[in-house]
Amino acid sequence: MKPCGTYAGYQTHKRRNEEACADCKRANSEYSQQYRGSKPRAEHFRLYPTDEELRLSQQRRLARSSARNRALRRLGREYPDRLAELVAEEAAKDGLAINAPGKVPTRG
Ligand SMILES: [Zn+2]
Repeated sequence: MKPCGTYAGYQTHKRRNEEACADCKRANSEYSQQYRGSKPRAEHFRLYPTDEELRLSQQRRLARSSARNRALRRLGREYPDRLAELVAEEAAKDGLAINAPGKVPTRG
């Protein structure tokens, strides 16, 4: 077994399902503090994003969505017939009849 009073010793206790001795607990606690560095516990183990992180991620999401919308509008301008076909197909799936492209609505 690894010597008591070390982090490895603490791990050995845990592997054996023993309660760690005082020396090992202290070694583990020092090791954890070192691992966290100078950051306070709350910041190191933060579960939720900061307001700034939220703001940035929302900004990225909006930019992506805005770029996608502009691209879709351009696609519609460059391929209006195909877009009309697709709209008609999708509408038909919902049971809506939309005039196919090129067909002039007729009165019966
Ligand atoms: Zn120990």
